[in-house]
Amino acid sequence: MSHSIPLLNNEQLLQVLSSSNNAVAVHVAEDAIIQYASDRMIAIWGKDRSVIGKSLEQALPELKGQPFIDLLKKVWNEGVTISGTDTPAQLEVGGELHTYYFDFEYRAVKDDAGKTYCILHTATDVTERFLNVEKVQSLTEELRASNEELRAANEELNASNEELNESQQNLRDLYDDLTESDLRFRNMVRQAPVGICIIRAKDLLIQDVNDSYLELVGRRREELENQTIWDAIPEAAEAYAPVMNDVIRSGVAFNAREHEVTLTRNGVPEVLYIDFVYEPVLNDGQVTAIMVLAIAVTDKVIARRSIEDVEERIRLAVEAAETGTFDLDLVNRIMLTSDRFNVIFGFDRQVPWEMFASVIHPDDKATRIAAHEAAIKSGKLFYEARVLHSDGSTHWVRVQGKVYYKDGKAVRILGTLLDITEFKRLQQQKDDFISIASHELKTPITSLKASLQLLERVKHDPTSELIPKLIDQSSRSMHKISALVEDLLNVSRASKTELKLNKTTFTIAELLNSCCSHVRIAGKHQLIVQGNMQLRITADEHSIDQVVVNLVNNAVKYAPESKDIFMMISQEGDMAKIAVRDTGPGIAPEKIPHLFDRYYRAESSGFQNSGLGLGLYICAEIIKRHGGDIGVESELGKGSTFWFTLPLD
Ligand code: ADP
Repeated sequence: MSHSIPLLNNEQLLQVLSSSNNAVAVHVAEDAIIQYASDRMIAIWGKDRSVIGKSLEQALPELKGQPFIDLLKKVWNEGVTISGTDTPAQLEVGGELHTYYFDFEYRAVKDDAGKTYCILHTATDVTERFLNVEKVQSLTEELRASNEELRAANEELNASNEELNESQQNLRDLYDDLTESDLRFRNMVRQAPVGICIIRAKDLLIQDVNDSYLELVGRRREELENQTIWDAIPEAAEAYAPVMNDVIRSGVAFNAREHEVTLTRNGVPEVLYIDFVYEPVLNDGQVTAIMVLAIAVTDKVIARRSIEDVEERIRLAVEAAETGTFDLDLVNRIMLTSDRFNVIFGFDRQVPWEMFASVIHPDDKATRIAAHEAAIKSGKLFYEARVLHSDGSTHWVRVQGKVYYKDGKAVRILGTLLDITEFKRLQQQKDDFISIASHELKTPITSLKASLQLLERVKHDPTSELIPKLIDQSSRSMHKISALVEDLLNVSRASKTELKLNKTTFTIAELLNSCCSHVRIAGKHQLIVQGNMQLRITADEHSIDQVVVNLVNNAVKYAPESKDIFMMISQEGDMAKIAVRDTGPGIAPEKIPHLFDRYYRAESSGFQNSGLGLGLYICAEIIKRHGGDIGVESELGKGSTFWFTLPLD
């Protein structure tokens, strides 16, 4: 500490300490007699200045039964430091007992002989932290006023010759007291848990700095003492030198909350979040020094940010899953819903709970009520129901939620909502398919069974004319069954991505000319191959043959009147295109987008053109696996052209 500037007196120093964000009190003796308490501490206690001079137990009787009085006793007797964070304390404020949470420290302050002469008690109300800047400023004003009073008193003193000697002696005594008290104050500053650094205004020389401040900036004492602040901490100069200059010029304090600062701590750059104050120390209206009070809040900020981050991720996940969310207050019967929830229910805004309930399909209302009743008992809400939109459409929803209880009573349900219309449609399609597949298999099996029963009857008469006919009929039924089973196997292979490609290079025209011999032999249709006869591709010939056979079979099946079936080969860029055209009835435009779906059959009524609705799905899977495209152009009454493309290399 340089003594070239006037030292602050005892009262000034205590006043300055009072402006700290931290509440401070000084206790002496085993009973923790309150020798000093900052305004902040008095406010925290919810008492007034009459507590000064009382023991803590007299001043705050409500502390009886709480640990603090015993802790203070221990600190006094054993000379130890006891601290705590987020510690609850019951305090009577405004006539009522409340629980507050504090970061506190009871520090035994010792003289040179190591004997405890007081307890420095610091506390931060971490429930709500704020710096009462006006308070500090008015205290500084008071400080200035009392300085003036002191000066006036001195003048009076000088005027009185008779009192001079006595006064001089008094002054000497006072000076001694002040020196001693100054030393005590400096000890307190040194040991305070909040970082304090005092900087001389005229040249920014650091005059005093405590250990907490050194710890915060990650420097050794010798790196700061007698240095100018920005020589000592150059990495903060760019951002904060102008701010400090402003405070020196204007005399107005600067408060910062959660400022992000990169400091080179112990040689390593580190990002910290700091709450700090640049507090001007005024003398005769002039700023003579800046007191920096700083506390690191990095852990708190990082914890808060990580919570915010998690919340954001949950929100994104909910959005990505297109999940609606709701928060139902069972006590006040109010439901808060997300935008997605409203949309799924067919509303463009939040509406009252009853209104959401009112659009549930009449047949599903009982399900919903039963699910809510069960949820109160089990803690889990789950049901699926249909909702009716104002445009007349029906949508399936799945509601899931968790029930929250208070004093054994269900008070709240938090949950999610999914639109499962598509899922239900697929489920329905699958059910339909199973019934079709069973039906399809039943016909040839019944016929096979009948043939075998007849064969059984005539088996002892090898000359019977029926035998070859029955064998033929059985074998046709068997053929039909194995074709159906083959289709089913292909689908399950395709969906399990087991479809392996065995690629060879071949001429497309040759494949088209040699395939579908069954159609050519039957003679009902003529297969005409046109286009680029030389085009060669590398692909799995067997699979491509299967695709072509499927398309030709469909043409035969669904366009029986189409005498000519055209197969066209062309090159489009780096793709080969193969098309199968018939001149049959064509396909309705609304059905076209679904043709390549699994289990889709354009004509669902009647089984005369029976099939499982799998052929085109399998074709699409094969072509996709080859990196090609498949499609259809069709117009009712004008026939259909099914085409696919394959990469040339
Ligand atoms: P399926 O086993 O029912 O034949 P596909 O997947 O092969 O199944 O065909 C799906 C539907 O597409 C058929 O049910 C049929 O209604 C329609 N379709 C396919 N090819 C033609 C065509 N050439 N002309 C008219 N409709 C067709």
